[in-house]
Amino acid sequence: MKILVINAGSSSLKFQLIDMDNESVIAKGLVERIGTVDPTTDLTYEWADQKIKQKQLKKCDTHAKAMEIVLGVLVGRDCTASEYDANDGKAHLTGTGVIADLREIGAVGHRVLHGGEKFTASCLIDDDCIEAIEENIPLGPLHNPANLMGIRACQEVLPDVPQVAVFDTAFHQTMPPRAFRYAIPNEYYTDLHIRKYGFHGTSHRYIAARAQELLNLPKGNKIIICHLGNGSSLSACVDGKCVDTSMGITPLDGLVMGTRCGTLDPAVVEFICNRKNMTPTEVLNMMNKKSGLLGLAGDSDMRNVTARYEAGEPNAKLAIEMWAYVLRKYIGSFAAAMGGVDALIFTAGIGENDAAGRARAVEGLDFLGIKLDYDKNAKVRGQEAKISAEDSKVQVWVIPTNEELAIARDTLELATK
Ligand code: AMP
Repeated sequence: MKILVINAGSSSLKFQLIDMDNESVIAKGLVERIGTVDPTTDLTYEWADQKIKQKQLKKCDTHAKAMEIVLGVLVGRDCTASEYDANDGKAHLTGTGVIADLREIGAVGHRVLHGGEKFTASCLIDDDCIEAIEENIPLGPLHNPANLMGIRACQEVLPDVPQVAVFDTAFHQTMPPRAFRYAIPNEYYTDLHIRKYGFHGTSHRYIAARAQELLNLPKGNKIIICHLGNGSSLSACVDGKCVDTSMGITPLDGLVMGTRCGTLDPAVVEFICNRKNMTPTEVLNMMNKKSGLLGLAGDSDMRNVTARYEAGEPNAKLAIEMWAYVLRKYIGSFAAAMGGVDALIFTAGIGENDAAGRARAVEGLDFLGIKLDYDKNAKVRGQEAKISAEDSKVQVWVIPTNEELAIARDTLELATK
C-alpha cells in the first residue's frame, strides 16, 4: 500500500508518499506560503531520483488547494495546479507524476502536534477525533488548527481514503504524575490541564523501538534519547516507555535550541513585560523565535554557530558551551531519575551529524560510565552506529530518526485493521 504522510503548518504543507511494501520514499515535497500576504506560493518536490524541483505558483489561499496541487504533482496530470502557475498559466506538471491514479493512495497519515491527555496512541480520524483535536487547540494554538486544515483538506480532496492522526505528544503519556505534574496548586491541573506533555514523541517512539531491536538491552533497560535538531528534546525511557521528557506544556521548555531559550525562571516573563513594556505573548514569542543559539550567537543553525566558534567568536563560544552544558545537566538528571542508564542515543539534525556536538554533550560524564570512542564518533554522520568505547558501561549510539516512516507505519496498521 502507498501511504501519503502530511505535516500541515499554518502556511505550509509537507508531504511524503511512501511505498509500504518496501518502506521506500516515492516522493516528498513542500508547499509554502499558503494563504499568506505573499503574491506567490512555492512548491518544492523531489522524487526517488533526488532531483529537487521548484516551482513558483500563483497565490494559493487554502490548504485544500495546496492538497490539490500536491495530488496534481503526484499523478503528473494536467490538473488544477496549472491554474496556479505564476508564469504562463500552462501545465508544466504533465508527465512528472509518480503514480498513475490517486486511487493508489491507500491511506493518509497526519502529524498532529497536541493530543492532550486524550490520545495515548495514533487514531483513525472520525468526527470524535476531530472534535478532540479541536478541544486541544488551547494547548497547541498554532499547530492544531493548521493540522486540522490539513485533515479537512484531505477529506475534501480524497473523501474515501482512510486518514490517521499521529500525535507528537502521545508517546509521553506513559510518564508518571511525579514527572508530568508542575508543583502549582492542583486546580490548575484539574481545571486547565496544565502539566508537562512533551513533544517530538513520534521521533522518540521510533528511536526507542529501534533501540530495543538493535542494542541487545536487558529487561528493565534504561535509555536516554537526545533528539537534537532545530527543536530539541530528551526522553528517559524504561523498557522503551517514556518516564520523563525535557519539553513541557509547550515545546519551549528544556534544552537550548535553535531559536528557543529552554528552561528558565518563569518570573523572567513578568520582569521583561514591566521593563520593556511588552505583553506576555510578545515575550513568549521572543523566547520561542529569537532566543537559543539565535539569541546568543545571532544564528540558529548549529553549522554556522560551530564555524564561528571555531573562528574564536566569543558569542558563538558561549552559545555552544551553554548548549552542551544544559544538555549534559539533563542527561545527568535523567540518569539520576531512572537510577542509572544503559544507553544514550543521539538523533535528528545535530545528533546525527555533529560529531563535535556529541562529544561536547558527554564531556565529563565518564563518572556515569559514558565513554566515547572518539575516532568512531568522528566518522559517524547520519547512519546507525555505536560510538561508545568497547569498555564503556553505557552504550552510546547514533540512530537516525524517521518520523514520516513512523507515521506511515501507524497509518498502515490502523487503516488496514
Ligand atoms: P533538524 O531540525 O533535525 O532538521 O536539524 C537541524 C539542525 O541540525 C540545524 O541546527 C543544523 O545546523 C544541524 N545540522 C545538520 N547537519 C549538521 C552538521 N553536519 N553539523 C552540525 N550541525 C548540523
